[in-house]
Order: sequence, then structure tokens, then C-alpha cells
Amino acid sequence: MGKVIAVANQKGGVAKTTTAINLSASLAAADTKCVLIDCDPQSNASSGLGVAKDPTRSSTYEVLLGEASASEAILATELEGLSILPSRRDLIAVNLELVEAPRREFRLRDALELVRQNYDFVVLDCPPALDLLTLNALVAADSVLIPMQAEYFALEGISQLLETIERIRENFNPGLEVEGVVLTMYDDRTTLAQQVTNNLKEFFGEKLFETTIPRNVTLAEAPSYGKPVLLYDARSRGAESYIRLAKELLDRHSRRAEEPVPGQHDPAENSTEAIDGSHGSEIDSSEHNSGSEQTNSEKNIAAS
Ligand code: ATP
Ligand code: MG
Repeated sequence: MGKVIAVANQKGGVAKTTTAINLSASLAAADTKCVLIDCDPQSNASSGLGVAKDPTRSSTYEVLLGEASASEAILATELEGLSILPSRRDLIAVNLELVEAPRREFRLRDALELVRQNYDFVVLDCPPALDLLTLNALVAADSVLIPMQAEYFALEGISQLLETIERIRENFNPGLEVEGVVLTMYDDRTTLAQQVTNNLKEFFGEKLFETTIPRNVTLAEAPSYGKPVLLYDARSRGAESYIRLAKELLDRHSRRAEEPVPGQHDPAENSTEAIDGSHGSEIDSSEHNSGSEQTNSEKNIAAS
């Protein structure tokens, strides 16, 4: 059964899509089978992997609305072992169209149920918002990979995401883990970057990936050719760093596989609550609750 990893951070421009594309490409290059699901109406992951705009083709929109199955919407890419479920601009409408729908938070999870067994990794590229699309991704995911930049306010920005992850554990997906935090567009020559990294290390402990992704122009150029950086310039620092990240992730997984098996995934099937605004966050996923708790909090899904 494939592991579902959501690449999420509500902050814009932190390299979610660059990470989703190049991590999944590097995982595919390491002989695993991956599918990248574009959950963002901006469709950057789709264009970055060379999917031409085609309004007649099924996309994440039709899949979330139940009008197409994931397997019929998934396309092959130029890289063997990597497929993509593309999105389109109209995906934004899902935030409104699904508001009253049954199991609206479980749409992606349900849609991936049948296909995830065909892959080793299912990578979800999330939009820069904590909206219904990101909520669907986090409910469908086994873990969240958080790309972030080493900035002075980095930790403040991340607390809202960690609170959201905690709410999702409580209401929908008790097994949701933090896969890790990866520093992107990193420049280790600055004292500030090193100070922030030390703080993040203290806060996240081993969840902070040792691999950092340097600022590298090749990473920014590759999507305009519709290619992961591996196929554009495999020897660039950007390509090498994502290969290292994939290796670190695979190493962590094989180490974890040798540990005792954690509890079964048991989503709160009937819960219809959305993310609420209450406080308290925790990154250690080892002691989540049973998932049966329901709150009466107001729905607080911000349309992006
Ligand atoms: P959004 O929140 O809009 O979805 P994002 O978090 O997905 O953005 P990206 O689109 O991956 O972020 O990256 C933002 C911009 O930074 C893009 O132009 C991308 O090419 C560039 N970029 C990402 N990572 C790097 C890097 N390591 N070096 C140089 N440029 C980068
Ligand atoms: Mg993006």
C-alpha cells in the first residue's frame, strides 16, 4: 500500500511544488513507483511536469466531485515510474461546490483508496491555503512534509499549520504524522540561516531533515521546460539535493519499518467538522487520540 505524503505549508512560495515535483521524481529514479497529485488550482505541478492545458481531460476537479476515477485521470510523465493526476484552474470551485456535500473532507481519501495500492508513494502538492483542498489532502495523507525557508519568523508561520494538523488528527485522521521539515532556498553562508536552523533543530528534533535544498537557479528553470530537474540537469546542485532528500526519506522509512508497527489508521468516518480555530499544537504524532472526538466549533474554511 503506497504511502501518501502531503507537501503542505499555507505560506506561499516556500517551494511546496518544487519539492513535490523533484522529491517524487527522485523517488521514482530510486526505483519506486510514484504518483504526484496536483491539489492546487494554480496547477504548477502539472505544468512543471509538462502536462499541457486541456479542458477536456479529467483532472483533480472531476476526481474530487466523483465525476472521474483517479485511475482514469492519472497520466504518465516523461520519467519512468512517475505519474501525475493534473489539476486545472477550476479546481478552486471545489472549495464552494463541496461545502454541503457528504464526506466533503474525505473526497480525496476515498478517491485514492483504489489507486494507492499501485504505488509506493503518492505525493500531494497542496495550495498555499488552509482551505478545503488542503484539508482533503491532509485527511488523505499518512504524513505531511513541510517545506520552509530559514527566516526569522519561520516558526511563527508554522504554528498555524501544526495546529491544523492537530485538529485533523482529532477530527478526521488520527494517524496523520509529520514526515519532516525541509529547509528550502537555503543559504548556509548567512549567520541568520544558521541561527534559525539551530532553533528549528531544537523545536523539531529529528523531524528536521538533515538535507537542505540550496537556492539554485536550475530548480527554477526546469519547470518552464516541463521537466523535473533530474531530466533537465541531473548534475546541478538542485538535482543532487533532491536526490539526497529522497534518499534520506527512504532511509528513515526503512529504519522505521524495522520498528514495531504503530496503530491502525482509523479516520473519524462520520465527522463533518472542519478545521477549527482553537489552539494547541504538537508535532509528536506518536500519541494521537482515538479520532472519535467531535467539536461544535464553527466551520472555518477560508476559501483561498
Ligand atoms: P505556492 O505557495 O504559490 O504554491 P510553492 O510553495 O509551491 O508556491 P514553488 O512554486 O515551488 O513554491 O516555488 C516558488 C518559486 O521559487 C518558484 O519560482 C520556484 O521556481 C522558485 N524556487 C523554489 N525552490 C527554489 C530553489 N531551491 N532555488 C531557486 N528557486 C527556487
Ligand atoms: Mg505550489
